[in-house]
This record gives sequence, structure tokens and C-alpha cells, in this order.
Amino acid sequence: MSEEIPADTAKNMAVQLINEDKEFSQGLPVYFNNCLGGRDIDQNYHVISVFGSQSSGKSTLLNLLFNTNFDTMDAHEKRQQTTKGIWLSHTQAVNTNRGVRSDPGSDIFILDVEGSDGAERGEDQDFERKAALFAIAVSEVMIINLWEQQIGLYQGNNMGLLKTVFEVNLSLFGKNSKRSDASSHSQKHKMLLLFVIRDHIGVTPLESLSSTLTSELENIWKDLSKPASCQDSTIYDFFDLKFVGLSHKILRADKFLEDVKNLGDNFSNKENNDEYLFKPEFHHMLPLDGWSMYSENCWDQIENNKDLDLPTQQILVARFKTDEIMNETLTKYFENYDSNIKPLILENNKDALIEMLVSIKVQSTGMYDDLASRYTKQIYLENRIKLLSKINDKFQETIELFIQGTSTELIDSLKKSLSTNDDETSSFNEILIEISKDITTRFHEFISNFKEKDLINEESIAELNAKFTKFLNKKQNELRAIQVKSIISQFKKNMNFAIKDNVISYLANPSDDVWDRVMSFFKRSMDELLIKFETTSDNSMKTYDFQVGFTPELNDTIYKRLRYIAWYLLNVTVHDYLKEDAVIGILREKFENSFRYDENDTPILWKDENQIDNAFKIAKEQALNIFGVLCIAKTTDNTEIIPDVRVEDVEVEDDLGIYHLERFAHIINEIQKEKILRQFRRQINLSVLDAKRSMITTTTH
Ligand code: GDP
Ligand code: MG
Repeated sequence: MSEEIPADTAKNMAVQLINEDKEFSQGLPVYFNNCLGGRDIDQNYHVISVFGSQSSGKSTLLNLLFNTNFDTMDAHEKRQQTTKGIWLSHTQAVNTNRGVRSDPGSDIFILDVEGSDGAERGEDQDFERKAALFAIAVSEVMIINLWEQQIGLYQGNNMGLLKTVFEVNLSLFGKNSKRSDASSHSQKHKMLLLFVIRDHIGVTPLESLSSTLTSELENIWKDLSKPASCQDSTIYDFFDLKFVGLSHKILRADKFLEDVKNLGDNFSNKENNDEYLFKPEFHHMLPLDGWSMYSENCWDQIENNKDLDLPTQQILVARFKTDEIMNETLTKYFENYDSNIKPLILENNKDALIEMLVSIKVQSTGMYDDLASRYTKQIYLENRIKLLSKINDKFQETIELFIQGTSTELIDSLKKSLSTNDDETSSFNEILIEISKDITTRFHEFISNFKEKDLINEESIAELNAKFTKFLNKKQNELRAIQVKSIISQFKKNMNFAIKDNVISYLANPSDDVWDRVMSFFKRSMDELLIKFETTSDNSMKTYDFQVGFTPELNDTIYKRLRYIAWYLLNVTVHDYLKEDAVIGILREKFENSFRYDENDTPILWKDENQIDNAFKIAKEQALNIFGVLCIAKTTDNTEIIPDVRVEDVEVEDDLGIYHLERFAHIINEIQKEKILRQFRRQINLSVLDAKRSMITTTTH
């Protein structure tokens, strides 16, 4: 495993990206951080790789061209053999005719492949193939380094390498080359093969060397076994080819340097430069922070001889990175969310809450967009939806909590609004419905404030509405129940007064038609008090009452209940009053009135016993007659009074208890009757005795 090498301003130090054991460096993030000094370069970077025979001067060229510090043979006499592996160096310093340029936005990463001279040993061939695959997967430009004298002579090594490069490239991009969707990045992807011809003496002009090389390359391409989908493809579908000659480094050192600078120009100056070497279609379109993961994944696949599918790799990276960015965003903006939101909820500060939520949403999506939009668009958008849904989930919770508080408050205000409402032309229920409507409107307005800012989704709105409606209905029913209760208790009170005052006075001094009077009074009072529950036209059909406004069903229930209560009160009053002693008293009074007093209420002065006996007989008859009337409640047409209500029709309240309505008329039973009569007789016999005594006294005078 290689160690990180700190960046050096003088020379750009390299890091061993893949070591001799074919392990991928874990020091890459640190290396990037060191050489970039924390700059975020996004996709503004380029990757170059170099291939060629061992000791063909690759590292020497790279170091000169890019101010890097790759190992060269000269520099490391001690180390006899160059280490196998792939080195990576960052540079901004390109050697050009305008000097060593270190332009901003000119970050280049260079891969120096070492030990790729694998004609002899099988194991090296394996590494060479893997290195080529890797270089193609991650770099935009591949420098192919070769000597002038190698050109034209069929050299197994070089051409073998190129064959490998072509094959590997086809395996990566060939299967997608005929794909119809033009948006696929891999389809448009190309790579630049930059042939650098070393020790170019100049006798053979570059053009003829180029054409020799080109035809060799085309021949290799022709003979290549290609996948079915790209049988007809040409080398130019996959590669751009460029050729550069460099003079002999030792024999023509000045010219060599000049050639290097000319080449450097094309790596650094893109303005008005047709020869500029980096083209957009070479780029792998990954932000640098994704590139390290991408290249590691690629190497892992390659090293384990797995199928390397670059679009999949890019998507994997995009997925991982956008996930990471999404989570960072959520952490950043929701870390203190609860504690920031809480006071606003407690203060019931809607505007501030909306403002805060909007700002969180704008800022967090802004952060995500900034960082994640650099990755595969589809994945970036997928995760953006995920992010928004997570933000929304969080918001829904808050908003629901907030709105529920408000809806509770609104609904609780219903009772107050109802009691302060002085509308006298509407019924209770109409007012209740009117105020409820008003509250509902205010509730909807409240929700729409959040909706306008796109802070609440339809699902939540539906849920909140349902809860609100349910809650409101419950409250309305409660208020109706209270209203019903108050109607009933009011009725009970009034009815009770009326009955107590009148019925008792009828009973206390009963006439023959006492029950007619009781009943006509009772019916009259009931009619008066029940008028609002009864329709005049059809007695069986109860309609809305003006002042209560309940449904016919509820009115009907209340109506029946009240009638039941009225009968109950009458029953209790009558039966309580007509107890044995009271009845005896009533009879006695009746008797005495008739026996002792004349029509002018003057006490009668008895003349003889006969007169007393006659009067006694009449008075007793009258009293007994009334007794008959009191014993059983019948109207004068001899109809027993039976309450016209049924227990089944009402929910009996606890304090009413159940009584036997059918026994209403039976006021005094046989045993009571005998007792009363015995008492009554004794008392009137005494009265007679008294009368006779008084007569004796008067006559003896
Ligand atoms: P690499 O193994 O391809 O990286 O080769 P090096 O850069 O280590 O160079 C190998 C040897 O070739 C060194 O001794 C260099 O001095 C020498 N060398 C480098 N560039 C040139 C060149 O342009 N012409 C000649 N003739 N020799 C070179
Ligand atoms: Mg080297």
C-alpha cells in the first residue's frame, strides 16, 4: 500500500495509485486534498495516461512536460529496476512556450504506468492488459510513447500493446456503440491516442510517419475480433489519433525542449487553438470527488477479472456520492431543526414558521443541487426527489402538529362564538352550522398559507381535513347534546312548577270532574311547552324547530322524551299527593264542608237529631262520591286515564327511573281504600257525635 506524498510547490510529487501488489491506494483523498489545497474543482480536470516500452523515456517526458516528479532511470541509479505499478501525479504546471503555466482551472492528473513491457512474461502481459483497461476507463488522453526507428518495422511489443488497447476499449465501449439512445454518454465517448515519436530525426517527415502508423493501426483494427454490434466500426468511432515528433533529447537538446513546449501549448491553451488536445467527449464527466471512488471501483472490477461496465460504475459512484451529499445536506439543515422550530410552534407564529421552512427548503435543496448535480443526471434527480420527500416528511410532522393546535383552538372557540351570537332570527342549529362554516373556512385559509409555499402535500392536507371534520363534528354533537340537555331541564323545571301549582290545587279540593280538569290543564301546559317540537298539521311528523333547528329525527326523540317527562312529573305529583292521610284529609274536608256549613258557609245550628242524621247522610255520600273519583283517575266520560307515551320510545335517564305508566290511573288500592274508609268513618262518626252533643247542650239551656 502506498503512502500519501504531500504536494510540493516546486515539483509535483506523485502517489503510487496502484502498487506492485496491485492494491489501490487508500491515500487518494488525502493526496487530492494536499495538492488541491481544498479547492473544489468539480469536473474541471483532465486525466492523461502514458503507455510505451520500458525505458522509452516516458517518465522523463512527463516530468519535463508537466513538472512532475516520476521516477526515471537517471534519477534512480540505485534502484536498478523501476517499480511496477501505476503512479499518479497532479499538476497545474505545463511547460509551454509561454513559460511554465499554472493556470487556474488547468488541473491535470497524470498516470505513469511502469513495468509494462510484458512481451516476455505471461504475468506482465496480465498486468499490461489490466493497466490498459484501467487507463482507458479513467483517462481522456493516452500518450503512446515510441521511437522513430520502431515505426514501420513490425515490432511485436508496441503493436501488441496497441492491439490490447483496442480490444480492451471495444470490451468497454463496443457493446454500447450501436445503442440508439443518443443521450448515452458512453456512446459518444472517445479517447485520444497521442503518439509521441521520440528521437525524431526529421529525415522522414512526421506526415509520412503518421500515415505509416495510421495504416498499421487500421490493419490491426481490421484484424481485431470485434463484437457483432461493431463489425463495421472503424478505429475512428472510438479514437482520435494525433501524432507528435520530438527531437533527440541528447543530440538536439534545445530542439527537444522546444518540441516539448510546443506539445505543452496544446495541453494548456484552449483559446483559439485548433490543436487543443482535451475535448469534452474524452471526459468521463465525474466530479473529482467521485473520480477517486470511480477509479477504485474500476480497478477492483479489473483486478478481480469482473466485467467492467463503465456506465454502471458511473451510476454506482453517482448513487453513492449523491446519497452522501443528500445525507450531509439533511444533517446540516436538520440537526437543530426541532429546537429551532419548537419556539415558533409554542408562539403559534405561523408566518415565522412558514418563513423558516421555506428557507430550510431553499437552502438545503440549493446545497444538494450545487454538489450533486455534477453526477449522472438521472441519479442526481432521483435522489433529489428522495431528499425533497425526506424534507417534506419532516415538514409534514411539524405542520400537522402546528395546524392541529390551531384547529383545536378554532373548534374550542365554537362554544364561545355560539354564546356570544345574538342572531335571533336563526335557530340554534343554524347558528351552529354557520359558525362551524366560518371556522372551517378559516382552517382552510390556514392550510392554504402552507400550500401556497408548497410546504404541505395533498396527502397531508386530506389527512388534516379529515381530522378537522371529525373533530368539528364531535364538538358540534357535544354542543347539541348540551343544548338538548338544557332544553330538557328547562322543560322539566317549567312543567314541574305548573303541575305542582295547579294539579295539587285541583286535587286538594276535588270536584266530580277533577280528572277532566287535571287532564285539560296537563294537556294545555304540555302543548304550550312542546309547541316548538310539534307540527300543527301532522302530529306524527316532527319537523325542524325554528329555535333549535335539529333534524326531524332528533326533534322527534326530544319530543317523545319531553312528553315522557311530563307524564312522569304528573304521575309523581298525583301519586305523591294522594297518599292515605291526604285523601282522608280531603274526604274529611269535603264531609265537614257539607255537614257543618250551609251554602253561605255559616255553621249549622242543629235543631233535632233527624236533621243531623240527614245532613250526615248527605255529607257522607258526597265525600264517598269524591273518594270514588280520587281512587281511580277517570274522566267524566268514564275513561280511565292512560298516559300516551311509551317507555320504549325514550332513553330513560337515571334520575327518572322506570315507573309503570299503565298504573297511572290506579291511585288507591283496595287495602288503602279500607284503611282510609275506616279512618274516615271514625272521624265523621266523631263529628256526628259532636253535633249531637252540641244539640243536647243547646236544648238543655
Ligand atoms: P521510462 O521507463 O519509459 O519511464 O524511461 P525513463 O524516462 O526512465 O528513461 C529511460 C532512459 O532513457 C533514461 O536513461 C533517459 O535518460 C533516456 N531518455 C529519456 N528521454 C530520452 C530521449 O528523448 N531520447 C533518448 N535517446 N533517451 C532518452
Ligand atoms: Mg518510467
